[in-house]
Amino acid sequence: MKITVVGTGYVGLVSGTCFAETGIDVTCVDIDKKKVDMLLNGEVPIYEPGLDALLARNLEKGRITFTTSLAKGIKDSDAVFIAVGTPPDEDGSADLKYVLGVAREIGRHMEDYKVIITKSTVPVGTSFKVKAAVQEELAKRKVDIPFDVASNPEFLKEGSAIDDFLKPDRIVVGVESERAEKTLKRLYKPFLMNGHPLLFMDIFSSEMTKYAANSMLATKISFMNDIANLCELVGANVDLVRKGIGSDARIGNKFIYPGTGYGGSCFPKDVQALVRTADEYGHSLDVLKAVESVNYRQKSKLVEKIKAHFGENLKGKQFGIWGLAFKPKTDDMREAPSLVIIEQLLAMGAQVRVYDPVAMEEAKHTLKDTVVYAKDEYDACIEVDAMLLVTEWSEFRMPNFRILDKLMNNKLIFDGRNVYDPEEMKDLEYTYYSIGRETVN
Ligand code: NAD
Repeated sequence: MKITVVGTGYVGLVSGTCFAETGIDVTCVDIDKKKVDMLLNGEVPIYEPGLDALLARNLEKGRITFTTSLAKGIKDSDAVFIAVGTPPDEDGSADLKYVLGVAREIGRHMEDYKVIITKSTVPVGTSFKVKAAVQEELAKRKVDIPFDVASNPEFLKEGSAIDDFLKPDRIVVGVESERAEKTLKRLYKPFLMNGHPLLFMDIFSSEMTKYAANSMLATKISFMNDIANLCELVGANVDLVRKGIGSDARIGNKFIYPGTGYGGSCFPKDVQALVRTADEYGHSLDVLKAVESVNYRQKSKLVEKIKAHFGENLKGKQFGIWGLAFKPKTDDMREAPSLVIIEQLLAMGAQVRVYDPVAMEEAKHTLKDTVVYAKDEYDACIEVDAMLLVTEWSEFRMPNFRILDKLMNNKLIFDGRNVYDPEEMKDLEYTYYSIGRETVN
């Protein structure tokens, strides 16, 4: 079997490499020549644990290759996965120009039957727009080549993408023909060893499933952040509340950690896009609108605490930021709460030193020379008035506080991820602010 994956970002590259691992021939297509050249050399342009070794193995076996030419890439392939970006448009709806651009190009170059599968996260009905775009191009060429469309949303998480793809909780596929169903069944059979389901459904339901899943997860985060904020006001401890509710099997203990708000390339844009889709149908998704506004507010939570501590004018003050990526184990800076926090600190006149184990290079694209890039977490704390923990990388969990004491101007920490134990911070004589818990003075 031979497949093509168009787009070699987090989703396309991981999917392509994992499919190659099952023994099939994979060609990955990307318009970014620099990326394609790197990948042909076995260099992975993104940070994703385990991906470099998996890619190297499959390159060596000749099961995966990369090209900028879609015409070459789709030659002889049975299935084409579209895995390009779907960034938010100005009004928050998903911008489909990349997905439909790829569909048109497929229509311009395909020579034989293919299943064209949309893996990008796209609004309900997009697979039929893909179908129309391909048909239009075939009509221009005055050829009648059969093809099917399918929807196969991706649920992998950056940071554990390989494991998520190889051992998925479930695989969702929307189809409208038996031929497409058969192809996708064959392709995904090797990933079903752990007994988790391959769910076939209609295309509308499949497209909707992805948005509903991400929106539910974003809802859990905003709900917990709102509860955490109330905990602070009433004198409750959100950690205990979290454990108290998480042990109820109906609620579950995952994804109920309070923090500085969700970010990344998926939740913010997918929640927004679903709200816009609903608006188009005259339906107001009120729960999700509240999820968005709570999240917007939450990104300022640490800075609010800083203002309450130091006042509005931060001229002459310096802050050390631990963690820039929107979550640990990724270099993805898209919609990262750290960017909002840093922007606010700078606007109030503060100076900022930053450190992230892997996202520094990505962060430089946005932060440019507005901050000092430290060489490690201790360097980020030299002569700072406070440290802000923004991303809970595991290497930040057990710092040497004796070293920090000497480096920092004040023993003061604003912890946006509740990483440290308030009792321990009390013993260490730190002033310690966290989320949804009593402040230690
Ligand atoms: P990305 O921005 O990392 O990568 C997209 C890639 O597509 C880029 O390399 C770009 O150069 C390439 N591209 C754009 N136009 C192209 C074209 N015409 N031909 C060939 N290549 C082209 O995106 P991503 O994070 O991998 O996300 C892709 C899709 O998957 C999005 O719809 C996203 O919502 C969805 N998704 C992402 C994740 C995630 O964790 N990142 C998880 C699930 C689903």
